[in-house]
Amino acid sequence: MAQIYIETHGCQMNEADSQDIARRAVGAGFTLAERPEDASVLVLNTCTVRDNAEKRAYGRIAHWKAVKDADPSVKVIVTGCLAEQDKDRMRKIVPHVDGVFGTRELGALGDALAMWRAEYPDDDFSVDREIETVMGGAGEGIAGPYDPLRGFVNVQRGCSYYCTFCIVPHVRGRFDHRPMRDILDEVRAKTQAGAREITLVGQTVNAYREPASGADFADLIEAICAIETVERVSFVSSHPKDLNEKLARVCATLPKMNPRFHLALQSGSNPMLRKMNRKYTVEEFLERVGTFKRHNPSWAITTDLIVGFPGETEEDFQRTLDVCATGIFAQAYMFVYSPRRGTPAAVWHAAGAVPHDVAQARFVRLKEVEDAAVRAYHDRKVGTTVRALIHGVSRKDPAKLSAKTIDNVTVNFPTVETVPDLGRPWADVVVESASVWGVRGTCIGRAATFDGAALPVAPPLIDLLAV
Ligand code: SF4
Repeated sequence: MAQIYIETHGCQMNEADSQDIARRAVGAGFTLAERPEDASVLVLNTCTVRDNAEKRAYGRIAHWKAVKDADPSVKVIVTGCLAEQDKDRMRKIVPHVDGVFGTRELGALGDALAMWRAEYPDDDFSVDREIETVMGGAGEGIAGPYDPLRGFVNVQRGCSYYCTFCIVPHVRGRFDHRPMRDILDEVRAKTQAGAREITLVGQTVNAYREPASGADFADLIEAICAIETVERVSFVSSHPKDLNEKLARVCATLPKMNPRFHLALQSGSNPMLRKMNRKYTVEEFLERVGTFKRHNPSWAITTDLIVGFPGETEEDFQRTLDVCATGIFAQAYMFVYSPRRGTPAAVWHAAGAVPHDVAQARFVRLKEVEDAAVRAYHDRKVGTTVRALIHGVSRKDPAKLSAKTIDNVTVNFPTVETVPDLGRPWADVVVESASVWGVRGTCIGRAATFDGAALPVAPPLIDLLAV
């Protein structure tokens, strides 16, 4: 059977693109492989947001050379931002790659898959055990049994904001917003196919403007929530500049919205925000978050933060610490600045970077402060029962399932499930303990829908036998 393995690095934009590639592959006659060693076509959907993401992608591509050496009929395909950025370079340094498709070439990738499908007759494909040895453990494919429960839908491509540290506008181009009708059709198709949660993705989703009608992001989420088959809706990522009162008001009227707003602050220092070209001050950020919280007091605010941006002083850094110390963020994705070729900040970094040890030390201090805020947020769930959508088996403990609450907190709990119960994907979990990464507990029921009644989970067979 012709199988395709798709490995996704980076953001949820890439998750959405990978779902699109999977859809095209299935349309061309492939089935989705859960393990790379089972596949005839390997697709790596790459990220360039940081230097280590780039290194990781090249490491994976190099790893797959051994697979291709073991079975030359295997095709290695690279897509995503790195493919866009390094198209020519890639052909020279990893010549075993069979195809490089930029982020706007998914249609061409689908056509290529349809063409290649004929090379893999159904009765001819066999797993080479040598490949399995070469590949090691399971990767990060998109074909886990619970994955279809989450549908990622792109609302736009590119970004026109040109933050000085960011490569996205250079590799993905300026804003290109999809027509609302196409988005709604895709949401309908994904929910009818079983998606319980739709995540709208884009670099700056709340800047969405339908080209023809001028409808904005608030109009879009209203239309999406009005679709009967839609159960829950999330969105990521948002820009503080485009957070307005209309969006805050509309979110408050839509019970299907997941109460989580990811709003990247990046720095707590106004001079740094100016240098980053972020188009807001810290005061404006806090004021907009305040307005949003007045309308939506239960929503979690999450963020991104960069430390060690070129020119960042101790005082600048202290301002970032001060904002985090207020406990405003339920979660923060923190990064040490990493230069991206072709951006203004990379030039400033080359001319005078914040010393590596200073940046690292600031990162540790920031993490300490933010971890305390995140832990406090998670601690407040102990003793409560949360309803969470199962994402799959816990990566660290195969005897546990891992789920996410609607405010995006990871919940792990023991399971005796051997066959995924996709008909009851919502778990009611009594939270018993909290950590920085999430919470642990005991599952007391499973529900078919977010609003539906939970049925008790069956006790382990071993307990029944003991009675
Ligand atoms: S808003 Fe800034 S950081 Fe976000 S994608 Fe656009 S340029 Fe990059």
